[in-house]
Amino acid sequence: MTTVYESSIDQSITDVLAVLRTYADEVDRDARFPTESVDALRDAGLLGVGIPREFGGGGATLTDIARISRALGAECASTAMIFVMHQSQVLSIVRHGKSDAMADLQRRIVTDRILVASATTEINIGGDVRSSSCAVEYDGEQITLSKNAPVISYGEYAQIVLATARRSVDSPPSDQVLVVCEKPDVTLVKTGTWDTLGFRGTCSPGFMLDARTTTSNILGDNYGDISAQTMLPVAHVLWGSAWLGIADAAVTKARKSVQKAARKTPGTPPPSALRLAELMVVHEQLVDTVFGAAAKFEAVSDSPAELGAIGFALKINNVKVTASTLVIDIVGKALQICGISGYRQDGEMSIGRHLRDAHGSAIMVSNERILGHNSQLSLVYKGK
Ligand SMILES: Cc1cc2nc3c(=O)[nH]c(=O)nc-3n(C[C@H](O)[C@H](O)[C@H](O)COP(=O)(O)OP(=O)(O)OC[C@H]3O[C@@H](n4cnc5c(N)ncnc54)[C@H](O)[C@@H]3O)c2cc1C
Repeated sequence: MTTVYESSIDQSITDVLAVLRTYADEVDRDARFPTESVDALRDAGLLGVGIPREFGGGGATLTDIARISRALGAECASTAMIFVMHQSQVLSIVRHGKSDAMADLQRRIVTDRILVASATTEINIGGDVRSSSCAVEYDGEQITLSKNAPVISYGEYAQIVLATARRSVDSPPSDQVLVVCEKPDVTLVKTGTWDTLGFRGTCSPGFMLDARTTTSNILGDNYGDISAQTMLPVAHVLWGSAWLGIADAAVTKARKSVQKAARKTPGTPPPSALRLAELMVVHEQLVDTVFGAAAKFEAVSDSPAELGAIGFALKINNVKVTASTLVIDIVGKALQICGISGYRQDGEMSIGRHLRDAHGSAIMVSNERILGHNSQLSLVYKGK
């Protein structure tokens, strides 16, 4: 039997993109889960694209996944964010779940087309994901975990939630583990709503998470290592890729707008052509930021020492801050170029959804918080 991965990723992506294009505006307008689009990802085998081939997955590199995320982001940023959040959780299992149970889980993610969500933030702790208040409680091999999570994207629609927690009730806030909480062993009770400016289809309200499972569902490595070596770099690169897709969509509309104006005045470029040229400079910076970081990760991905180095942490934090700053800048500039047709909500040149989605990038783990971390790291950093 031919698996989906033996056909080209590009072909499966083309069909998926058409589905995203069809439903993106409706998903955004109604702040509803993009069921059709996520089903299309499932049908194309893309949920398992990052899982090693030995477990039936696609064995894709981070650069491959970044390319897919970019393409998705240009059509429906909410679906793209769901895809990239899922991938950063899956790659954490791939790279840090070394037990037989975790090997089996990877096979099941492929065969059962499982969607994985995350609960890293916590009420009263906010975006400081390297700190937990909740703790794992043990009764022999049985464990329980209760977490008050302010935001779990697509929590209602995922089969698994990866949750951070203190290793035990005696552990300090920074001694964390990552627990695989699989339905029906986890119950999620909604504690809020999700009616936001952008990324509306990610359906990310708060939940009270209660899990009862076994110690075999605690990933082997401590969360500090998982975060530094995989979850954070992968998330920042893939979030940036999805945001690059938003930028691509806005730049495409700006380019069409300028080309349309140019056709009206043959031989005399419209004034907006200069603005478009400027826009493409910034767009190229975003492309280089995202794919440069993906390449950097791949170059050191097998070296815990290099992944754990201060220089790498600074670099990977900068990717998130740079990408989120640039996408907001790019979409704003594209709006100026498109003018009233971009400002309108009802035309094919409308920039509104891209603009609203773009602003979510700086909120999603606040840039201020990341810069705060970097300011501390830079005090002790001795590299260039
Ligand atoms: C679309 C979307 C989807 C998300 N999905 C998930 C998910 O699936 N799972 C999950 O766990 N989380 C998710 N989050 C939450 C995200 O990970 C962040 O934790 C959350 O956005 C931070 O919320 P906050 O701004 O209230 O908190 P904080 O990070 O605490 O920030 C609050 C304010 O304090 C400031 N601030 C805080 N700390 C510092 C500091 N050290 N220095 C300077 N200023 C500081 C910030 O600038 C900000 O203005 C999602 C967020 C978004 C936007």
